[in-house]
Order: sequence, then structure tokens, then C-alpha cells
Amino acid sequence: MSLPMIPAAKPIIGEDERRAVDAVLASGMVAQGPEVKAFEAEFAEHFTPGRACVAVNSGTSGLHLGLLAAGIGPGDEVIVPSFTFAATGNAVALTGATPVFADIEPDHFCLDPESIRASITERTKAIMPVHLYGHPANMPAIRALADEHGLMVFEDAAQAHGASLNGEQVGTFGTFAMFSLYPTKNMTSGEGGMVACATEEIARNVRLLRNQGMETQYANELVGLNNRMTDIHAAIGRVQLTKVDAWTAQRQANAKFLDAHLEGVTTPPVADGAVHVYHQYTIRIPGAAGAERDRVVTALREEHQVGSGVYYPIPNHRLASLAPYAPGLELPETERAAAEVISLPVHPSLSQDDLERIVTAVNTVVVKAGA
Ligand SMILES: *Cc1c(COP(=O)(O)O)cnc(C)c1O
Repeated sequence: MSLPMIPAAKPIIGEDERRAVDAVLASGMVAQGPEVKAFEAEFAEHFTPGRACVAVNSGTSGLHLGLLAAGIGPGDEVIVPSFTFAATGNAVALTGATPVFADIEPDHFCLDPESIRASITERTKAIMPVHLYGHPANMPAIRALADEHGLMVFEDAAQAHGASLNGEQVGTFGTFAMFSLYPTKNMTSGEGGMVACATEEIARNVRLLRNQGMETQYANELVGLNNRMTDIHAAIGRVQLTKVDAWTAQRQANAKFLDAHLEGVTTPPVADGAVHVYHQYTIRIPGAAGAERDRVVTALREEHQVGSGVYYPIPNHRLASLAPYAPGLELPETERAAAEVISLPVHPSLSQDDLERIVTAVNTVVVKAGA
């Protein structure tokens, strides 16, 4: 008997979002306008109090424009993790700067301060941690290193809406932070990104860069792009913003259940003082080689109809696109994580029955793998 598939992720788009989009369509004005402006203010109030937020058409654009606004360009180095989505390093490379890949610490999968320290050169301009899977990076140590070496800090908070460390919200630590609004992220606008800026100067630069370098029409001040968000997307995002806290609480409750019931795997630990928002619930199959881990993923899907994901099977410094920036680099914890991790469904649409099926499936398949 084949059960219905439990998907690894499930964007929630309801009647409220459809009504909000319809209202924008009915207005006849769909490009960047009042909805975007309202979304920026509401997002800032919700996640990054005191910061100016600027909406763009994707998270990747947000990173790219944030880096440009902070003055990153050719000759500069920005330290990033290799164990992340390629957008992190891509954004650095697209500015003409060099992404320098550092290793992660094994518990929380985020940048390891000791590896950052070893990666600093006289060209280093900034450190850009990723709050991977929704767990905050070690910001006190990163901030201390940045202060010691006169570096900027940028945050890739694509996966971490609402995460915090010692009461400080992610997105409020550095010169800028980017939140992604892609459909599988903790909230969506369809496609989109939000850049939270530490100063009005950075915010103004991001606004200029997303709009051909114009503040006053046809009086272009900078060479820029068209990375604007539409009012259609902002309308979706505004509705999602009213629901994201409840969804996060459900993700956290789902994670708690998985923590309590999974056996034979390493469940994701949470650092002292950290609030994890579980964009992904990522376990390790300790000691697994990539092939064995992949066998578990296949068995979960084919024998138990449980979807899962591997984020990310190939470290960025091994990708054909980014490897040229990292000749001969070895990052042992990154390589180990890439071979061992599996992200299980944790999204807020899971039922209790789904959670129990996931636990049974993992406990069965992993015991079998070990036998
Ligand atoms: C999703 C993601 C991005 C890119 O965001 P998009 O909105 O898809 O462009 C960047 N970094 C990380 C870590 C991500 O997960």
C-alpha cells in the first residue's frame, strides 16, 4: 500500500493572499508602488526593528545590491561559508570581489570563527555568515573578529526570518542583511528579497541600485539594475507577514517532536541563547558516506513516501562555477556535512500523523542502514 507523499516543503498560499493580489490587479498599478513601501515598513518593524528595509526581486539580488551598496568590488575578499546555497558566493563573485570559503562548526553548520580567522588577509573587507537552516551563526565571535580586524559583517539571513541570538534578531548584526522570500522559505512573496540596512546611506544605495541608479526619474546617479519588487509580490508578502510567527511556532513544535522521537541519527542541536526557526530540520547520519546517505533518502521516498532534501550535496568550493576561487582548498567539516546531512520535512502543514510517519520511516530505514 502506497501512502500519500509527505513533501519536503510546502508553501502555504491561501485565500487572503489571493484577495490581496486581486486587489493590486484591480488597481491597474502593478509595478513597485505603495504595497512595496508598506511591505518594507512592516517587515522592518516585524523582524529588524530600527533598520531600513528595501525590497528587491530576489534574495540573490538583495545580496548583490547589499554588497555593491557597501562598496564591495574588484580586489576585495569576502569570507563566506562553502556549505550554503551557491547564491552566497555567487553574489560576492558578481561584484568582482573574491569569495573566500571558510569551514563550518559541526554542531550548527554555520561559519567556524577559527576558520574565519585563518582566512583573513590584507584584502579581506567583510565576513558574510549564513544563518543556515534557520539557526543563527555565532555572531558574538564573528563580531569580535570583525572589530579586531576592521571588517564589515553582512548576514545571509535567507533562511532565518525571526531567528535570534541572546535576544538579538538576526538581520540586525551587520552592515546589511538579506532575507529571501522564495516560495520554500519560511515566508514568501512569490519571488523576492528584503535587504535590512544598518544606515540610511546603505539603504539609499540599495534603493538606487535596484532602480537603474535613479531617485529622481531620468536623473541617474549610479550605474544600477532593475531589481525592483512588484506590488503584486509585496501584497503576498504583507499577508504572509501576519502569519509567519504562527508558522514558525509550528515548525518549532514539529522539530521538538522529531528531536524527541528520532533514533540513531544526530538531531540538530540549538546553541545556548539561540532561537532556531527551522527553515530546515537537518539530521546527520553519522559516519555516512554520500552514497549511503543517498540510499537513505531514496528509501525514505520509495519505501515510506517521505520526501527529504540534501542541502547541500556539493560544497560551493567544489562547484565548477566557484572552485576556481578556491584552488586546493580543503574544508573537512564542510565535506563531512555534505556527505552526512538529510533535511526532513518540518514545515507547518505537517499533521501529527505525518510526523509519526516521518519518525517511523527514519527509525526503520536508518536501523536497516546500520544493520
Ligand atoms: C534561498 C537562498 C538564497 C537566495 O535567495 P533567492 O530568493 O532564491 O534568490 C541565498 N542564500 C541562501 C542561504 C538561501 O537559502
